[in-house]
Amino acid sequence: MTSPTQTHKNPLFSGKPDYFIVGWMLFLHLMAVAALFHFTWGAFLCFLALHFVTSCLGITFCFHRLLSHKSFKAHPLVEGITAICGTLALQGTIQEWVSHHRLHHRSSDTDRDPHNARRGFWYSHLTWMLQAHDQESYRQLLDKNARDIMNKPWLAFLSRPSVMIGAQVLLGMILLAIGGASWVYWGIFFRLAFVYHTTWFVNSATHKWGYRNFEADDLASNNWWVALLAWGEGWHNNHHRFPNVCPTRFRWWELDITYLVVKTLAFFGLVTDIRQFPESASQEASKHKFAKQQLAANYGPTAAIQLSRSAPKL
Ligand SMILES: [Zn+2]
Ligand SMILES: [Zn+2]
Repeated sequence: MTSPTQTHKNPLFSGKPDYFIVGWMLFLHLMAVAALFHFTWGAFLCFLALHFVTSCLGITFCFHRLLSHKSFKAHPLVEGITAICGTLALQGTIQEWVSHHRLHHRSSDTDRDPHNARRGFWYSHLTWMLQAHDQESYRQLLDKNARDIMNKPWLAFLSRPSVMIGAQVLLGMILLAIGGASWVYWGIFFRLAFVYHTTWFVNSATHKWGYRNFEADDLASNNWWVALLAWGEGWHNNHHRFPNVCPTRFRWWELDITYLVVKTLAFFGLVTDIRQFPESASQEASKHKFAKQQLAANYGPTAAIQLSRSAPKL
């Protein structure tokens, strides 16, 4: 029998802390602060380059739009290389990342959402990850949600935790050999912490602050500063409404750098079958805009904002 308190518990988690993850997060953030005392311009450029490679090419291009949503097709070499880039972001294995993300879309902002934003900003940003998994339901979920990943030998190989950690250690050794300790501080620790937070803002800030082009049943909103930090992922209302569409930008001013990467690779024939917004999207957006204008005219701007951020159904 389920007690009333259990209705707010995600069946994925055991309810106990994961001390390994808690320790890792503390250590990483301390090392990221320490990086500030080891600044060199070379190390900073190394950080910028690896930020683009692991966050844009790895997470947003590969893990998110290609593998989780299949919003375009990529040449196997592009998929294989960018999957390494995403693995180097150290955000869990490919299988875990894709599985969590698909679950987030299927049950956005409900108790089954791994980072349910209704439980508060910090829960959706970070603390959801500090819980230990219920191993049985977690294993079942991974098998069910991301079987397609494990059917590809290269992605299955990269999805081994030992390979993911080994790749990070190898990168650290290469950076140490090229640029010394400052490159490790900036290229590994500062970069990992920075990419973590920019990715996490997509789960937290865009489910809290922003505007909408489309009416939706969840909290996802379009947030310009998250879009800038996370290579276009901040246009989250657009994305939640049309999750399998490749571009997240709908209005012309919504800058989507990941989509520019997709278009560039498509120009060279390395990416094909890019899914676009359906024609009905424009009508839907116009309807939403009109409803907001009507509300503003009749009840003032606050009512229109309320519609744009209307309390979605549970
Ligand atoms: Zn979301
Ligand atoms: Zn998504």
